[in-house]
Amino acid sequence: MDKEMNYGNDYKFIPATSIGSGIGIDVLPDLFCYTIQIVNICLEGNPETGDFVLVDAGMPGSADEIISVTENRFGADSRPKAIILTHGHFDHVGAIIELVNHWDVPVYAHQLEMPFLTGKESYPEPDPTVEGGMVAKMSPMFPNEPIDLGNNIRTLPSDGTVPHMPEFKWIHTPGHTPGHISLFREKDRALIAGDAFVTVKQEYLYKVITQEQEISGPPRYLTTVWEAAKESVIKLNALKPSIAITGHGLPMSGELLTKSLNKLVNEFDQIAVPDYGKYVNKKLH
Ligand SMILES: [Zn+2]
Ligand SMILES: [Zn+2]
Repeated sequence: MDKEMNYGNDYKFIPATSIGSGIGIDVLPDLFCYTIQIVNICLEGNPETGDFVLVDAGMPGSADEIISVTENRFGADSRPKAIILTHGHFDHVGAIIELVNHWDVPVYAHQLEMPFLTGKESYPEPDPTVEGGMVAKMSPMFPNEPIDLGNNIRTLPSDGTVPHMPEFKWIHTPGHTPGHISLFREKDRALIAGDAFVTVKQEYLYKVITQEQEISGPPRYLTTVWEAAKESVIKLNALKPSIAITGHGLPMSGELLTKSLNKLVNEFDQIAVPDYGKYVNKKLH
């Protein structure tokens, strides 16, 4: 069955990195965030009990690194119960086929993300003309064709529960992609935000390299429906998260997170929405 899986024809290693690359952060005892070049993966689960889940699957070519990070934390030959995808962009599914082959675990994503994970539909082309810096300009080289996970991909349950993450609920946070989700745990208000908002200005190469912490909307060059993206940030802010792991940038917590998210909501059009770009005026459908 694994034979059915394949990446798109434009799949390739992307030579972009940051000072955070290769660094892991214990955000909470059961929440570990690790940076692969310019994107974060998250391991949810307590190393003492050994049950855990991987959220997102890194950059192209990073499978060996993800496996060794996982084994360092959970022990030799450990494997997650499942892989949960916040969305299917190349930098969040870059190693997924090798990981599924190695671990033989199910992958879950939102129903509206399925066309991009089953080889049926490409994401809209990234927009190199969007207001922003070098990463935006580089974006046409990013893999954009859909990957096909065959029968290894499953739809998240419609009741908001997350398989193998019993304390978490998934929250639909579209705008960056149609089926983008975030994960939230009520008891300590921990949020895994994916790219619904990020803590680094991802369009600017020097900010990506230095990981200068600054709240930002979703990465601009790949965000197509800004009104929905704004609604999603409002939804997440209303949850009053105490700590957030975002798809890009350092984890943010406490007062800084509260203030930054409020600011992002109040000034979304100035902070997040680019002044120009081909998806800027696209309305909610
Ligand atoms: Zn993305
Ligand atoms: Zn991303």
